[in-house]
Amino acid sequence: MFGLMQQEELLISGLIDFAEKNHGETEIISRRVEGDVHRSNWAQVAKRSRQIANALHAMDLEVGARIATIAWNGYRHLELYFGVSGTARVLHTINPRLHPDQLAWIVNHAEDQVLCFDLSFLPLVKAIHTHTPTVKHWIALCDEDQLPKDTGIEGLQCYESWIGQHTDHYEWPMFDENTASSLCYTSGTTGHPKGVLYSHRSTLLHAFGSALPDVMNMSARDSVLPVVPMFHVNAWGLPYSAAMVGAKLVFPGPALDGKSVYELIEQEKVTFAAGVPTVWQMLLSHMLPLKAQFSSLKRTVIGGSACPPAMIEAFKSEYNVEVLHAWGMTELSPLGTLCSLKNKHNLLSPEEQMKIRLKQGRSFFGVLLKILDDQGQPQRHDGKSYGDLYAKGSWVIKKYFKEKDSALIDGWFPTGDVATIDEDGYMQVVDRTKDVIKSGGEWISSIDIENIAVSHPHVAMAACIGIPDPKWDERPIVVVVKKPNTALSKEELLAFYEGKTAKWQIPDDVIFVDAIPIGATGKILKTKLREELIQPQH
Ligand code: AMP
Repeated sequence: MFGLMQQEELLISGLIDFAEKNHGETEIISRRVEGDVHRSNWAQVAKRSRQIANALHAMDLEVGARIATIAWNGYRHLELYFGVSGTARVLHTINPRLHPDQLAWIVNHAEDQVLCFDLSFLPLVKAIHTHTPTVKHWIALCDEDQLPKDTGIEGLQCYESWIGQHTDHYEWPMFDENTASSLCYTSGTTGHPKGVLYSHRSTLLHAFGSALPDVMNMSARDSVLPVVPMFHVNAWGLPYSAAMVGAKLVFPGPALDGKSVYELIEQEKVTFAAGVPTVWQMLLSHMLPLKAQFSSLKRTVIGGSACPPAMIEAFKSEYNVEVLHAWGMTELSPLGTLCSLKNKHNLLSPEEQMKIRLKQGRSFFGVLLKILDDQGQPQRHDGKSYGDLYAKGSWVIKKYFKEKDSALIDGWFPTGDVATIDEDGYMQVVDRTKDVIKSGGEWISSIDIENIAVSHPHVAMAACIGIPDPKWDERPIVVVVKKPNTALSKEELLAFYEGKTAKWQIPDDVIFVDAIPIGATGKILKTKLREELIQPQH
């Protein structure tokens, strides 16, 4: 027997309709590529996304056509999020930090037909436009008078004129909620990137889940700053969850340095921010010497790579900001776990609570996790036994775009991370499978070694890699960037490890460098470090 309730398709257009009708005046603030701060609101975004819908119809693009963006976080990008997907076409957000060859490869693989870009990426677009034959329309996200002449890009249009010719009268079409909505390629440190194709249903369920109080706790009282780029897994779904709850959105544009982010937080009374650890490192480095404080920021989600405990502690003790450590992947839309405490933890001391907060967190309704050993045997959830982490759920990938084979093993997605899960369901990433250091049959977590290094007051950044060792297979070394104007010797740092980890886990060597290579999504490029530091074996 079926239930007798209505079935409304879960569509992205429903989100923007809702935000317009119920939170129309709630502001959308963007620091633009031009440098100024632009003020819009949900009603404006809704109206302009309907103009985009009409503009796409006028271009005669079929349902399912891919419309690409190479853009920073801002209101025009947000309008495309709703305008493109709302018409059953697919928004393909591209990471501009990729090498132009890789970028062209992605555009061709996705068969993008329209490419919208911020003017600051004009040189990049010039470099690829003759290598991307599927793209028929080039749109610069700017006003007509900003559009440069003689770019050499045939048919280049400006966004404001493109949508400006069309009315905002438009009825969003109804279609199957499993229709594709957006496409994002994994960062792919080896081999070609792979496309993850989200659906309207997966996007909305992810938005429902991530807005929950124990997850991102999003509400209409929030002013949300997604520092995480809209080209990196849809800015962790924040544009959708903000529309769902009617939150104010504050976009930083290209200005991600500590000073700009701090000023924006203060000016727009941001209550909640989200980003990778490297961005927060820049923010704290800016604030510390100025003894600056936050007047509105209450919580920040940090994820994308392991958040050093020293950062979680600094936010809490010096700025009274709650850090919510989160774990996710492009293949998980991206949220898999978030670290919020349970009722029974209220009675614990701040030190005991901190021990839990350092973990990547527990999954929430909608995501299932399991850990298996090399033989595929389930590992105990005791916080100690570790194994390969698998995920399953309504916003977890089934298959990569255009790949023949399933991405799953026995119905579960192998994440490529090694993790523990404790009795209360809190997951802790030990390492990426390929980064874990195998020394004498035992495993050393590169994350643990890095966390100890960055807790030293003179260390700004650290990366641990394994180097081949004839006796132990691999031994850890740590690559370190010192804080400006500080002195630290190899011996001092190695002595600092004493008592903080088992003796055999202490790195064999410390290499001081001026900078550690960072990849397109703000993560340390260990592949590059290995290439640079490990001598080929003969
Ligand atoms: P991406 O798909 O580019 O977002 O990369 C996903 C990978 O980033 C995961 O498989 C993890 O290895 C890593 N990652 C994400 N969040 C965390 C975290 N909080 N701690 C450690 N690693 C993380």
